[in-house]
Amino acid sequence: MVVHIPVLVPTPAHAAIGPLLTYTAADPLPPGSLVRVPLGSRETVGIVWNVQPSPEGANADSPLLGTPALRPIAGLLEGVAPLCPAWCQLLAFAAQYYQRSMGEVAIAALPLQLRDLTTQQLARRLAANAKQIAKGSAQSGTQTDGAAPALTPEQITALARIQTGSGPFLLFGATGSGKTEVYLQAAMRVLSEEPHAQVLVMVPEINLTPQLEARFRARFEPQYGPSSVVSMHSGMSNPQRLRSWLAAHQGPARIVLGTRMAVFASMPRLRLIVVDEEHDPSYKSSEGARYSARDLALYRGRLDGAKVILGSATPSLETWYHSREAAQGGRYERLLMPSRVGQGAMALPLLRRVDMTHQPKGAVFSPPLLEAMRQRIGRGEQCLVFINRRGYAPVLRCDACGWKSACSHCSAFRVFHKIDRTLRCHHCGFTDKVPKACPECGNLDIGTQGRGTEQVEEHIAELLADLRRPGSQSPQYPDGEPVRVARIDADSTRLKGALQAHMAAVHGGEVDVLVGTQMIAKGHDFRRVTLVAAINPDGALYSVDYRAPERLFSLLMQAAGRAGRDASLGAQSEVWIQTHQPAHPLYAALKQYDYPAFAESQLQERQQAGMPPFSFQALVRAEARTQEAAQAFLVAASAAARSEMAAWDGWTEILQAVFLYSAVPMGMQRVANVERAQMLVESANRGALQKFLAAWQPILHSSRKLPACKGLIRWAIDVDPVLV
Ligand code: ADP
Ligand code: ZN
Ligand code: ZN
Repeated sequence: MVVHIPVLVPTPAHAAIGPLLTYTAADPLPPGSLVRVPLGSRETVGIVWNVQPSPEGANADSPLLGTPALRPIAGLLEGVAPLCPAWCQLLAFAAQYYQRSMGEVAIAALPLQLRDLTTQQLARRLAANAKQIAKGSAQSGTQTDGAAPALTPEQITALARIQTGSGPFLLFGATGSGKTEVYLQAAMRVLSEEPHAQVLVMVPEINLTPQLEARFRARFEPQYGPSSVVSMHSGMSNPQRLRSWLAAHQGPARIVLGTRMAVFASMPRLRLIVVDEEHDPSYKSSEGARYSARDLALYRGRLDGAKVILGSATPSLETWYHSREAAQGGRYERLLMPSRVGQGAMALPLLRRVDMTHQPKGAVFSPPLLEAMRQRIGRGEQCLVFINRRGYAPVLRCDACGWKSACSHCSAFRVFHKIDRTLRCHHCGFTDKVPKACPECGNLDIGTQGRGTEQVEEHIAELLADLRRPGSQSPQYPDGEPVRVARIDADSTRLKGALQAHMAAVHGGEVDVLVGTQMIAKGHDFRRVTLVAAINPDGALYSVDYRAPERLFSLLMQAAGRAGRDASLGAQSEVWIQTHQPAHPLYAALKQYDYPAFAESQLQERQQAGMPPFSFQALVRAEARTQEAAQAFLVAASAAARSEMAAWDGWTEILQAVFLYSAVPMGMQRVANVERAQMLVESANRGALQKFLAAWQPILHSSRKLPACKGLIRWAIDVDPVLV
């Protein structure tokens, strides 16, 4: 007997075949089974699919093809259990909601090696894993553990609510309030209550949080063995990723710690999901299937019957809004932990605003800030300086003729990097030696405009050149060594291990001033830092991106959290903000560390303007050889949508509920010689927007063949975009 088996194969968007293909087999196979199937001239791994295309669900995918000569399934992935129905549903939902093909989502969801390894290779991997686990469990219980501290009343209350409530929960706690301790203990309970329970903990950037991983290992490995905590993030090699994936899928991994990709980890007994720093933009994927791991985590929690904890000191406005009082329609339970805890931790730092309109013109460091830094360093304390641009100067310019270091491939300036004397485009990578004279007029005297991390590092070192560090023996007497300045940004940490080395130098007290981009704001626990300075943060106040203030607020809050972690230093720590708008409400709220006040004012603005979370958005982006073609495509596709859908039964309401904006060039209009345009689609009704987008897909697809759209390279829908 021969049975027809629908198989989902990982294929890119708009692939000619797939993602649902029919194969044959001698016997029926349970849905979720991982199988090896021929695809064209090669073989890949697919998932036996339970095709009940829901009316909306499958429209993004090509219909099940009954090609005349069906090919047989090559084999089952031996020793790998089928994926569970909830996992398959998650994948299908992600594809439907984010308007992607299931094949594209499957690419994001399955580890590369699972798809690529031969049967023999995979068998060897499985055997090696099993051996390692056996060895591990023999050793377990021998390690010294990270004993749990006695909980604070706030932590006790939060944990009790998590225990009894059903969630989702927003754990709204200051940096250093002990949120991580709450995650650890909530996870501990879940594991002790059910023999095979699993916990997923997501963080925005796991490379920056080895401390978190260490804390989980110290807490769980003694009891649950060395394979009980695994990581999943893009910094891992493919074999490592496969190992983690299998450990989670087969069960020995009880805790998966990972970045956004981990939301797709196969965890058959998932009972708790933690999304730490839930507001962080990196939870939203910016390429391929543009999913939000935070939002998928909430959905997944429902599918798997797992509780979900979102944690943040500065929640996203969406989450804040959803966690309002239940009587007002809130759907999440808000848990408050306003106080900082831990060994000798202190109150949040004092916030100082320096009015730059009253400071010497052109000063990068205002005199009062500089004086404060000198005093701190003189006492053996450390300072952090934030600047959101890397490189030496964002633009090189000629005052004689007005030439600027524009990138010839992008609508952007190339950044001057003094270290290797290059001009580099941060968008397309185009790099040149710095010209000796102006390329336009030959003027030898070309100068810089604006400042990046490299220049700030150089400048502060000069300003502090006369200062000596305190001696290691007697802090009050300088030992004669010059002040040490270090820089952490994407350039200084490019080499493997560089970030860790820099961090170790800061922790070891070898560095007095650390200059960096937002990379240094996240998650690091610098105990001797008592002063944090944002030297030029105003840009976000004028940004066209309506989420810029929200991001600035959370960045500065996070930065503030870096200071004052150690009361033994005895000093009141400070955050300095240099601004031309000291009275701006954002800074006023920040001074009180009053996120709720800031959030309320932002939400009011959003409500008045009808923006998320009071509306739902999607963005269609088009890339083409010319801007005309990119826009023509969007215009044609939207006109076609209106005229076609108007004729459909019952669609008047949907069309009325969905608003299409004009096609416009994107903020970064040209990158690597590709012109980019976008069209915003908005609705107060999420369901209407979803229906519209699903129905629009095929129309968009066929519009690309119109003559006016010649030169179109690609297009894609971004649902719930974070950068508009
Ligand atoms: P958050 O995740 O909110 O920033 P953490 O959980 O990392 O806070 O806690 C901050 C510091 O306080 C850590 O060093 C942690 O070990 C410590 N800590 C947390 N809870 C307690 C507690 N109940 N008693 C003592 N120290 C604690
Ligand atoms: Zn010139
Ligand atoms: Zn460029």
